[in-house]
Amino acid sequence: MSAQPQTFVIVGGGLAGAKAAETLREEGFDGRLVLIGDEAERPYERPPLSKEYLRGETAEKPYVHGEDFYAEREIELWTSARVTGVDAGRGELRLEGDRRLGYDRLLLATGAEPRRLDVPGAELAGILYLRTVADSERIAERFERGRRVVVVGSGWIGAEIAASARMKGCEVTMIEMATLPLERVLGPEVGQIYLDVHRDHGIEFLPETTVERFEGEGSLERVLTRDGALIETDVAVVGIGVTPRVQLAEAAGLRVENGILVDERLESSVPGVFAAGDVANAHHPFYERRLRVEHWANALNQGPAAARAMLGEPVSYDEIPYFFSDQYETGMEYAGFAPEWDEVVFRGDVAGREFIAFWLAEGRVVAGLNMNVWDVNEEIRELIRSRQPVDAKRLADADVGLEELAGVTR
Ligand SMILES: Cc1cc2nc3c(=O)[nH]c(=O)nc-3n(C[C@H](O)[C@H](O)[C@H](O)COP(=O)(O)OP(=O)(O)OC[C@H]3O[C@@H](n4cnc5c(N)ncnc54)[C@H](O)[C@@H]3O)c2cc1C
Repeated sequence: MSAQPQTFVIVGGGLAGAKAAETLREEGFDGRLVLIGDEAERPYERPPLSKEYLRGETAEKPYVHGEDFYAEREIELWTSARVTGVDAGRGELRLEGDRRLGYDRLLLATGAEPRRLDVPGAELAGILYLRTVADSERIAERFERGRRVVVVGSGWIGAEIAASARMKGCEVTMIEMATLPLERVLGPEVGQIYLDVHRDHGIEFLPETTVERFEGEGSLERVLTRDGALIETDVAVVGIGVTPRVQLAEAAGLRVENGILVDERLESSVPGVFAAGDVANAHHPFYERRLRVEHWANALNQGPAAARAMLGEPVSYDEIPYFFSDQYETGMEYAGFAPEWDEVVFRGDVAGREFIAFWLAEGRVVAGLNMNVWDVNEEIRELIRSRQPVDAKRLADADVGLEELAGVTR
């Protein structure tokens, strides 16, 4: 790289930020590199926070890197440091305490934060949200055998929290606006499978309703639903989605719309300023539209891609979205992007919960989910990428190899 800029700054010490810092050094960037996060911890991964870490099955915090990693690579890691402003014209950041820091290239990896439930009583103690290690520990303290826990929302976070609470012996009631858990992404066919999984484990599921209000003297005592159910409880965990943390970008004059708008190189509307991870709404070359993906693999892969783009390398981020979830003994991976579909085709043992589900649109596979079937997700992604029309009968037939269906070698 000629005329190498001297200072690269990454705002956001999550997975995307940490992987970007790692990649910058790996790719030979030898200027000053500062990674700034407002949490007290060094970067860590969030998926265990609703699973084994929440259940106390491991006491190890799921750090992205070992303690010495950053110092060894001369990455200045600033923790408990909040960036309060970006002056994109001058190439300067403001931090709490009136500190300033100039940059030549900037990566915003500020992630997302839980959407708050805005109902009467929402400020009562005992109403909890999950994003950080500290949140997970706070919730874990409440998980006692026999205790009633209300989980509001049955998306991925809600469903995993409910499963973990149940596995810890709590009595769990889930409150969901839709008819089925995970219905928004998975639709009714697979949503029903997840409802059965939760019911088999003794969850009480209240569909098509929401919280009318929380009640209690200072702390939570009761949850009242819109359709009149009254649940006596002193703990409710709310998982109703996240919103991208765009305040900095917005104030700096970057184009923002459901996240920071970036091109396929992950560069924002302001040259030299990039975004990655949950906060980035990136042009996706495969889908020919923007996508904001709130999943682990996206942070894992977009951070490095943004780092390479910061170094001026050719980048076109076109990973097929991927995520995973573990609930009870049910593990699954999902790949694809399917805002709409015509049919869902199953292969394998649906009743035994060992199957693959394929979402088809115009005869092509647009998404696939493998539940308790492993080492197939890459092939599912190939199938999606191939855009080959598939025969539904062959798709359902476990004797037909997935690579055969993709029918192409790339
Ligand atoms: C409990 C939980 C379970 C999950 N489970 C799964 C799963 O099973 N599978 C899956 O695919 N995905 C899962 N995810 C999603 C996945 O963890 C996220 O997609 C991923 O963490 C996004 O990483 P990120 O680096 O973009 O953002 P984040 O992890 O949100 O990190 C951003 C960081 O930037 C910091 N920050 C923000 N603003 C500033 C500022 N102004 N100054 C300094 N620092 C700032 C934030 O505090 C945060 O530490 C889960 C998420 C949670 C919360």
